[in-house]
Amino acid sequence: MNDTVRPNSNPQPVDGMVMPRFGDIATFMRLPVFRDPGAVDVALCGVPWDGGTTNRAGARHGPREIRNMSSLMRRVNHATKVAPYELARCGDLGDCSVNPIDLMETLKRVEAYFGKLHAAGAVPLAAGGDHLITLPIFRAIAKHQPVGMVHFDAHTDTWDSYFGGFKYTHGTPFRRAIEEGLLDPKRTIQIGIRGSLYRLDDMDWGLEQGIRVVTIEEYFDLGPDKVIAEARRVVGDGPTYVSFDVDGLDPVYAPGTGTPEIGGYSTAEAQKMLRGLRGLDLVGGDVVEVSPPFDQTGGTAIVGATMMFEILCLLAEAVARRKASK
Ligand code: MN
Ligand code: MN
Repeated sequence: MNDTVRPNSNPQPVDGMVMPRFGDIATFMRLPVFRDPGAVDVALCGVPWDGGTTNRAGARHGPREIRNMSSLMRRVNHATKVAPYELARCGDLGDCSVNPIDLMETLKRVEAYFGKLHAAGAVPLAAGGDHLITLPIFRAIAKHQPVGMVHFDAHTDTWDSYFGGFKYTHGTPFRRAIEEGLLDPKRTIQIGIRGSLYRLDDMDWGLEQGIRVVTIEEYFDLGPDKVIAEARRVVGDGPTYVSFDVDGLDPVYAPGTGTPEIGGYSTAEAQKMLRGLRGLDLVGGDVVEVSPPFDQTGGTAIVGATMMFEILCLLAEAVARRKASK
């Protein structure tokens, strides 16, 4: 083990062999709560907000349910053997303050919150919330250098506007992020795109910017290994964000979401793809669009919590690698 890693002094989750996992306070992954972002390398946090939702709302309840179901997560990734809490200081930073009835005000609050994390050197791992939350996160972390993105979703989220010119919805964050110079379209790959369109030319804008769009049809033709090889080629060595919209999954696996689209990849395939991102220069991630009111069994919150754990393993490794190279 690298001597920059201090396993014994890192925050640890509540031990499931001591306190059963149905017990105690439901924090992300049973980690301790910190209010000071300087205390952690990876900040797990919630954005309980769905003001950008154009159709079926409810993702504001996502962070709390993901916290609850994340108590099922253990300490070590069984496939990669990554033990995130030995590699990095991880903690639950609570929820970002939001205003459920004022979208523009909330965008400012989310940006300010993630700006504080970023200034303290903490890498964010956010639980949404709807997908518009990623825009203010980018405003906080990508102001000085645009990020690349590996984006799992049924939707491109690069529409221009809704409802007569309104520019800020969960269907528009990546168009805004590219326009604002926060997201490098040539280092962006979208995986799982499908569903009926509003218009035949819906996807053209993103393709013209240079986004690599992997439709679900191409995904099934290539398979997860080749798609991830393509993702690694697209994002390269630069700073990269992982955004995981649970509606990229088939709704058989994740029905508790606002905009389900049939014919997606499975949870096992998504885990395989996420694990294929090891070694990239990852600077943050999120899991969005878990909507507990549509999640009758709680199964989608388990999926959200598990994908968050997979991304946490990636971020902890990236943090440890950057620390070791300093
Ligand atoms: Mn989305
Ligand atoms: Mn989506």
